[in-house]
Amino acid sequence: MSMIDNNLSSFLDIASDSDFSIHNLPYGIFSDTTNDKRRAGVAIGDYVLDLALLEEEGVLTLDGGRYFDQPTLNAFIDSGRDNWTLARKTIQSVLSSSNDTLKNNQNLQDKALYQQAEVTLHLPVDVPGYTDFYSSKEHATNVGTMFRDPDNALLPNWTEMPVGYNGRASTVFVTGSTDIVRPSGQLKPNDSERPVFSACKRLDFELETAFIVGKPNKIGEPIAIENAWEHIFGMVLFNDWSARDIQKWEYVPLGPFNAKTFASEISPWIVTMDALAPFKTELPTQDPQPLAYLREQNPSSSFDINLSVAILPKNADSATLVCQTNFKYMYWSMAQQLTHHTITGCKVEVGDMMGSGTISGPTPDAYGSMLEIAWNATKPVTLKDGSTRTFIEDGDTVIMKGYSEKDGIRVGFGEVRGKVQPALEFSFDT
Ligand code: MN
Repeated sequence: MSMIDNNLSSFLDIASDSDFSIHNLPYGIFSDTTNDKRRAGVAIGDYVLDLALLEEEGVLTLDGGRYFDQPTLNAFIDSGRDNWTLARKTIQSVLSSSNDTLKNNQNLQDKALYQQAEVTLHLPVDVPGYTDFYSSKEHATNVGTMFRDPDNALLPNWTEMPVGYNGRASTVFVTGSTDIVRPSGQLKPNDSERPVFSACKRLDFELETAFIVGKPNKIGEPIAIENAWEHIFGMVLFNDWSARDIQKWEYVPLGPFNAKTFASEISPWIVTMDALAPFKTELPTQDPQPLAYLREQNPSSSFDINLSVAILPKNADSATLVCQTNFKYMYWSMAQQLTHHTITGCKVEVGDMMGSGTISGPTPDAYGSMLEIAWNATKPVTLKDGSTRTFIEDGDTVIMKGYSEKDGIRVGFGEVRGKVQPALEFSFDT
């Protein structure tokens, strides 16, 4: 695995607290006002580097294919690890202060570099399938404590497998492309025998990350645990918007359905596993030891990624931080999730997105959902503008951020930022 090269620096002026250092180079899809064609770019400092242009100019040649003049990253990802490695090496070199190709060519810089603030970012991959796991022990314990039994908060299967469900890929969207419309559906008041149709009253965020599958398997052929990392391309931040009251009534016996299918919001830049490699860290101890098919030889199977959530109310001057946690608290690794997902022979595709599940840490300031932060509406949170929240209100913007940092080197994800709009109005003849 690659180590941090502290001598590597870019000729571009990049703030030390930028998520997009030369050590990162996350991939996205963008268009701009002069060219509405969607194409691939990498984020570097405040800029986007146009990879389609570099390819056209012969600066970035991989195995001969044209991978970046495309509306999604799927073709590039599908072209395989050798191309991922070559692309990263070439782009890093072109942006470095020791290479003259771009540094000393103002004409090429003018054509290839855009201000991030001036481009439109699109969904970076076509997502054929989306699965959400439930792999934070702290989160699962909190939810089990609130809704079942504090003495038996985790169900017996939880420590034996990465529990998950199949979600809706059609509702995965990139942050900024749409607002979040408060969903409506069936809610069942506690004192009522039958449900009512209503706007959701318990709208929540779920702080998650998701990984993007980089290599498919064949139907009927599980991905062995020792090969699982080879099938993962990179990661994004993920707000898995949830309607807690719809969820509560519908989820028995088959799990979440409408409560999770209205807004699955991801960050625009896919941070590669190569960029995250220096931030590997050990998984928490798994007890009991998992069954053999889920056992990883290397315990450094997690990542040190700082994560946060803030709420910006409508008309407020500044956002209030409501959660600070870390990806390293996750109980099950991404490799274990992928292996478990395919153990029956289920096929995964390039671009498939696998959500981590809500990432909660051990202390209340590290809980990754309002359900936990306000403890099932019993502990309202006071925001900077004096208002209180138990769940998310209309007009609120929920902002999630994430980054890794070590030895002065920063690799970040940017942000996910979703603003909530009021529910649609329905009128039914009764
Ligand atoms: Mn979720």
